Amino acid sequence: MTAAFEAFHLTGSTPEEMAELLSEPPRLGRQIFTWIHRKRVFNCSAMTDLPLQLRNRLNAQETLFALKVIEKKQSKQNGTCKLLLECGDGELIESVLLRHKDRLTFCLSSQAGCALNCSFCATGQSGFRRSLSAAEMVEQALHLACAGNLQSNSTPNLVYMGMGEPFQNYDAVMKSIALLMNPLGMGIGARKITISTAGDIPGIDRLAEEPRQLRLSVSLHAAHDDLRSALVPLNKKYPLQDLHDALQRYQNRRGRQITIEWTLLENTNDSPEEALRLVSFLKGLDAVVNVIPWNPVSGLPFTPSPQKRQDRFMSVLEHAGITATLRQERGGDIDAACGQLRMRRNRSFREKS
Ligand code: SF4
Repeated sequence: MTAAFEAFHLTGSTPEEMAELLSEPPRLGRQIFTWIHRKRVFNCSAMTDLPLQLRNRLNAQETLFALKVIEKKQSKQNGTCKLLLECGDGELIESVLLRHKDRLTFCLSSQAGCALNCSFCATGQSGFRRSLSAAEMVEQALHLACAGNLQSNSTPNLVYMGMGEPFQNYDAVMKSIALLMNPLGMGIGARKITISTAGDIPGIDRLAEEPRQLRLSVSLHAAHDDLRSALVPLNKKYPLQDLHDALQRYQNRRGRQITIEWTLLENTNDSPEEALRLVSFLKGLDAVVNVIPWNPVSGLPFTPSPQKRQDRFMSVLEHAGITATLRQERGGDIDAACGQLRMRRNRSFREKS
């Protein structure tokens, strides 16, 4: 077997690439792809329509798959399920499955850790380790599909909103999207896929040129520069006016509605004045707002916004004619805040060693 084959993960390859790397006919690449992506079979011995010799070759490889599930937490509140996954080099990442009626949404991480250091985020507090490969992102979706018992004829929504800034790992994110859209596998439609950015303007401009109709979401959290720079330090590099201009360019090019994410923090960004600032930021944009109650992270100097303040914030948006949804708290009983499960696991490992 070749060195190239030893180094690759099957899940990061198209059917054509699999066939080429394995020096097998294209038909066998397609069969392997379908076994993994559609039937979610990870044991090559069970791929019964492959020649025995090929199954044995595949089984002899230890690096075919990129991730191992090491913890699964299921919320009793609403069916939210969180996975803690281990990469081949020991890095830990998280993925979340959200349920809304019969609709499943997979929230994927694009990096192990994150360099952006948002002040309310557990992942941001633990620093950046590395970007994930396409295989590591694809496998998150496959493991979530297994955890959620996804039927092979249904497709989930996908959001790149877990750990990391997806636009700082642009090419691998796009490769993973292409693999998850492949009709021989999950066949997820582009309109069901959202990339969430903290405001990386070069990434927004690149996305505007993509041929696929992907969705864009921006984690705004504040609509004046001082507060936003304190909450999302990337704002110092790409301040609000520049971000607004980039979103307008994106909409002029794509004509697509965007989503603005706003995590509510008590006495920080949940006042009527902050809501009015958001209203004025939205002028000239076709956007809906997702307001998210903050999931507490121990050690961080924030508290969740109480119901009364949440309602007041929402009513300012409503009176201004903004389409806004207050998201229900999800999975507070399973360390649902981004990066929290990983942070706890890393801490307990350090305490033991
Ligand atoms: S909120 Fe997102 S972008 Fe900010 S530190 Fe956390 S993972 Fe990174």
